[in-house]
Amino acid sequence: MSLKVGVIGTGMIGQDHIRRLTKVLSGVEVAGVADIDATRAAAAAPAGAEVFATPQDLIRSPKIEAVVICSWGPAHEEQLLDCIAAGKPVFCEKPLVTSAEAARRVMEAEVAHGKRLVQVGFMRRFDADYRRLKAVIDGGTLGLPLMYKSVHRNASVPVGLYTSEMPLNDTLVHDADISRWLLGDEVTGVEVRLPRRSRQGGELRDPHMVLLHMASGALVDVEISVNIAYGYDIRGEVSCETGIAALPNRPATVITDAHGIRQAIPEDWRERFIEAYDQEFREWIVAAGQGTATGPSTWDGYAATLVADAALEAVASGQLARIDMGDKPALYGQALDRAA
Ligand code: NAP
Repeated sequence: MSLKVGVIGTGMIGQDHIRRLTKVLSGVEVAGVADIDATRAAAAAPAGAEVFATPQDLIRSPKIEAVVICSWGPAHEEQLLDCIAAGKPVFCEKPLVTSAEAARRVMEAEVAHGKRLVQVGFMRRFDADYRRLKAVIDGGTLGLPLMYKSVHRNASVPVGLYTSEMPLNDTLVHDADISRWLLGDEVTGVEVRLPRRSRQGGELRDPHMVLLHMASGALVDVEISVNIAYGYDIRGEVSCETGIAALPNRPATVITDAHGIRQAIPEDWRERFIEAYDQEFREWIVAAGQGTATGPSTWDGYAATLVADAALEAVASGQLARIDMGDKPALYGQALDRAA
């Protein structure tokens, strides 16, 4: 029996997820698609899939058992609330929503429903290297984690479309989520420092140095550089009481020639995290088939939204911006732990 999935938003990542759901993974079938641009939806629809006129038609259709949301962030709240009202498991690409109030509304609806339906697209939690790093920290052999250094470098970003707010409200969310998950901790405050501006991005504010204050007292520093030119470079290193645990360099063929000894660098997130996206959906398909969700939750999406808001406040004020998440509903568990 294949899980019949509907995909909303057939742009860049929607098309990539349709490819993985139809060509890579088993136990799943893309039975419907919808996009604000009907022509794009029709072009992306796999053979046999219905092209729905609206996301709401797709969500309510008896043909669709579970939903994948890949529309742009401001549309997510309405689509998530419709999925919860229909009682259908839903995978939602990050950002969960674009404001803390919207995140609270989605949480309230899911809590009222009584069981988890939402998984947020924080794919790093499904990456084998990050999972091994977390296992070392959780194992406790290095003592308590004290500091984490997260490096997020993109080769380039689309000129004119990517604004100076986006390093903090679009890119930082991945580092914020992986920091909370790796350290099993919550962010209580954010500081932002602006180093010398890179000439690579013109007027774009880039790079950023972000300091996350965690509830335990641990500190996380995040470098976000979005026009680094040489490739997509993701690094992480945890300093514990008696040792250091770091993400390995990605295994890649070593080339030796007249230019020296070198290894290729991933071009973008699709290449670096291709296996993590596959695994993220493998685990989603299993949970959705059982009518529920595991992995990054609405609470985790809410946390990332609060960090983004605080980071924007901190860059404007130059001060530490504090975060108060309020009480965690029992539906989302007691402590941050494993991804699934
Ligand atoms: P994109 O290429 O612009 O695709 C979004 C698609 O959704 C477009 O076809 C857009 O149509 C459509 N759309 C917009 N509003 C809609 C609505 N209300 N109902 C139905 N369709 C709607 O963007 P993308 O890069 O694929 O990103 C999509 C989402 O994935 C974003 O939330 C983004 O942050 C997230 N993302 C996550 C990762 C990750 O690493 N996890 C990576 C990339 C993107 P128009 O173009 O006509 O507006």
